[in-house]
Amino acid sequence: DSVFANIVQAPEDPILGVTVAYNKDPSPVKLNLGVGAYRTEEGKPLVLNVVRRAEQLIINDQSRVKEYLPITGMADFNKLSAKLIFGTDSPAIQENRIATVQCLSGTGSLRVGAEFLVKHYHNRTIYIPQPTWGNHPKVFTMAGLSVKSYRYYDPATRGLNFQGLLEDLGSAPSGAIVLLHACAHNPTGVDPTTEQWEHIRQLVRSKGLLPFFDSAYQGFASGSLDTDAQSVRMFVADGGECLAAQSYAKNMGLYGERVGALSIVCRTADVATRVESQLKLVIRPMYSNPPIHGASIVATIFKDRDMYTEWTIELKAMADRIISMRQQLFDALRARGTPGDWSHIVKQIGMFTFTGLNTEQVASMTKEYHIYMTSDGRISMAGLSSRTVPHLADAIHAAVT
Ligand code: PLP
Repeated sequence: DSVFANIVQAPEDPILGVTVAYNKDPSPVKLNLGVGAYRTEEGKPLVLNVVRRAEQLIINDQSRVKEYLPITGMADFNKLSAKLIFGTDSPAIQENRIATVQCLSGTGSLRVGAEFLVKHYHNRTIYIPQPTWGNHPKVFTMAGLSVKSYRYYDPATRGLNFQGLLEDLGSAPSGAIVLLHACAHNPTGVDPTTEQWEHIRQLVRSKGLLPFFDSAYQGFASGSLDTDAQSVRMFVADGGECLAAQSYAKNMGLYGERVGALSIVCRTADVATRVESQLKLVIRPMYSNPPIHGASIVATIFKDRDMYTEWTIELKAMADRIISMRQQLFDALRARGTPGDWSHIVKQIGMFTFTGLNTEQVASMTKEYHIYMTSDGRISMAGLSSRTVPHLADAIHAAVT
């Protein structure tokens, strides 16, 4: 008999499992709005033109070798990633106060940051928003942090529960870690305003909480890389410390290349040097060093002014298509006279709309209309097109009437 005979079947991942169910459905009208990956108007995955250009350059480079990268990854990539999120003129960069390491996309960056905090930070409690990306509690728990939540979303207004957020962070113990979505909060699509961010910053600093930013959608929310990084930059401008996990999955379409970075902003260059030395000790026993290809694509694009510009244009086009899908879905529901206020569809930003549909309504839309989404009613706007909006609007209309 197998030594593993007693192992029980694990449940499917709540997000990736949606695609598993979708793949099994033979219906020609089936629609996958579960996973957060961009699709074109034709419903196809998109490789950015600038990424193809960069890959050509990389492949044609005869001096290219496949030696191991350093434990911390590609130096150029790290420097440029820091500039992307903190700003080209960031004093923290000029003062060498930031330790940046290349990691396995956003998830890997969060995990390395969490492992580092468990080993070297005095407080092991992290506050995450309620709700948040489903993988957050697992990543942090596995690393050894204790996970608590703070109020974030108000189902009544389908907007931010700002009062609840301030109360919960206000009563968090001094020194606790706080996870903040830099922009395009997943799954709600609800972000604080600049004034609210400033309030949050003052509270976080006055209580000595440690901010840990998850930046998985820079450029995807507004279409502007700088606008989407404002929250993070406010927290760096005050001279205080923070962590930031960056992903190039969405904004450069590099999902499966697993390219991202973790930055730890410190008070002094001396501290940053020691932090980096300890990050190496976290990374080495996990995966030794990160892969080359995705980071070379990013670095190649960043180093060429023309390619960088092309990237920002292609990124804006993706963001604009998503914004246009919001308007089209909203208009389609209005045209059908679907009961309820659906203005949150156009107010929320980023890849997802948190529809407010409940588990039963989602189940009926899957059963009757072959539309797949997470059971919390989150739909990926990037998976929609002008062609599929009417089908989705019909399904929502039927589910709520
Ligand atoms: N954080 C948030 C909020 C996300 O939505 C995602 C992806 O869906 C990630 C992090 C990490 O993604 P990846 O590991 O593919 O970069």
